[in-house]
Amino acid sequence: MIDKDGKVLARRECTTDADRGYAEALRRIIEMLRATAQTANTEISGIGIGSTGPVYPLTGEIGDVNFFPHWKGENPVQDLEQAFQVKVAMENDADAAALGEAGWGAGRNKSRLIYVTIGTGIGTGLILDGQLYRGADQSHPEIGHHVIDPSGPLCLCGFRGCWESLAAGPAMVTWIEKNAPPDYSHRADLTAKKICELARQGDSWAMRSVEHEGRYLGLGLANLVTMFVPEVIVLGGSVMKSAVLFLEGIRKVIAASCRFVPYQQTALVLASLGEDANLIGAGRVWFHSFGSEVATGAI
Ligand SMILES: [Zn+2]
Repeated sequence: MIDKDGKVLARRECTTDADRGYAEALRRIIEMLRATAQTANTEISGIGIGSTGPVYPLTGEIGDVNFFPHWKGENPVQDLEQAFQVKVAMENDADAAALGEAGWGAGRNKSRLIYVTIGTGIGTGLILDGQLYRGADQSHPEIGHHVIDPSGPLCLCGFRGCWESLAAGPAMVTWIEKNAPPDYSHRADLTAKKICELARQGDSWAMRSVEHEGRYLGLGLANLVTMFVPEVIVLGGSVMKSAVLFLEGIRKVIAASCRFVPYQQTALVLASLGEDANLIGAGRVWFHSFGSEVATGAI
């Protein structure tokens, strides 16, 4: 529950449990929304949704989503409108976080902004002239899956060597598994987070993995700078909690690769909404759709 300035008033969270079905999930969402409004001691005046995609923002339908295999065609926008008698808006979750950062976070007052979240995958949201960019059929462009190295690993998107396959958190683990000697002492239970910790402690394989990650993150970001020259790229997601390890590498690649554009004009900044980025972003989705209408309560 957030107010009209993006401040979190109350929050509640649960796992999706997609296998229990859409109707059951909807029931839980409605229950949690009512309980959260009660905690915040306020009325709900609108509902914003940030969902893993593909989703269809203009109709409110869920597409063919990997994480909820049997929910295709369900319409949480209509269902929640009916349950609460308020307007509801939905966007892809990366677009929602982009709108949040653009409206209330690190990208405030910038009209050309790219949000990039780097965690188990790479999600992006593109805002041009203050508006969220959509492709044909309301589609969300999958910038995280543009190709960096055609000889790289095969991804579910169909490409070999897309950015996500080479630079999302799991790629750091894969790199060490492939390159470190068999007796490398931290082989078991490696995660991107653990690798960052080890790198900070001076572990040489972890440091090499971090260097590799910085270079591949940098390549993707340099491509974005060359193609869009945004005023700002906002970096978020779990891997960016260790941004200090990667920023120098990223900047080096951009400076070496983007000579045909004024790359110095693109600020690289860290997301400022932190753990609540998705929550606040979902609220901002509502403002993006219906913001000209006065909101007196909470979203
Ligand atoms: Zn891919």
